[in-house]
Amino acid sequence: MTVPHPVSIVARVWRLDTEAPLPLWRRTSLSRGAPELAFSTRQGGVSQAPYDTLNLGRSTDDLPESVAENRRRLLQALGFTPEQLVTLGQVHGARVAHVTAPGLQPESDAAVTRTRGLALAVTGADCLPILYVGGAALAVAHAGWRGILAGVAEAALQAVCAVGEVSPAEVEAHLGPCIRVCCYEVGPEVAARFPSQAVIPHAHSVHLDLPAAVRLRLLAAGLRPERVEDTGACTACEPSRYFSHRRDRGATGRHWGVAGWRDAPA
Ligand SMILES: [Zn+2]
Repeated sequence: MTVPHPVSIVARVWRLDTEAPLPLWRRTSLSRGAPELAFSTRQGGVSQAPYDTLNLGRSTDDLPESVAENRRRLLQALGFTPEQLVTLGQVHGARVAHVTAPGLQPESDAAVTRTRGLALAVTGADCLPILYVGGAALAVAHAGWRGILAGVAEAALQAVCAVGEVSPAEVEAHLGPCIRVCCYEVGPEVAARFPSQAVIPHAHSVHLDLPAAVRLRLLAAGLRPERVEDTGACTACEPSRYFSHRRDRGATGRHWGVAGWRDAPA
């Protein structure tokens, strides 16, 4: 059911404060010492159409100074500075960068760290951003259909387990806004590469369920079902709240999923 002007949208441990100056999905009920976990929306930035307003992607034709200001605002809202930022050169693959310092990690669609004071960011505008927390490690992953088939979701899970020294059953995974099964029509050649539980036939088309495909793979890799949390948000359904590469035919901005510990432990 849709409420005209909700003050907030809640999905279990995730909450979007829609009236904040910079509306963000935030992980709630955090225990002491837990990392910051967030997913951005398109609201609260300075970019002009079609990147209005919180475009965080440099790989667009948006003004670089606008993107820089948007990134600064988002990081500030989470308690970070641009000097703490880790970004990925995403290629729809399954490589996981092991990160100990800020900066760009080329040709990586996931990153893992146990270093405090870093803000790990994944970029997307329909692809599924995934955040992981396991023991002393956290990770981020960018999962479109190609990356899912390449195994990026499990690769990031395995990296968190190795770096955090935990088993998959101890890891939490968080699924952010992405294009959902309601809106994501795919060709039969793509659909055929996914398990039937992630493919929904329509009258004259098939739709792909990216979060379902990721969930199946993570559970098969040992993650516990009750430790998968999902915002449930569809980027293509809500033009006022999200960018969508598919809906906007490529001329659009980019969101971030972010994970990090703000600073060194006390
Ligand atoms: Zn939708």
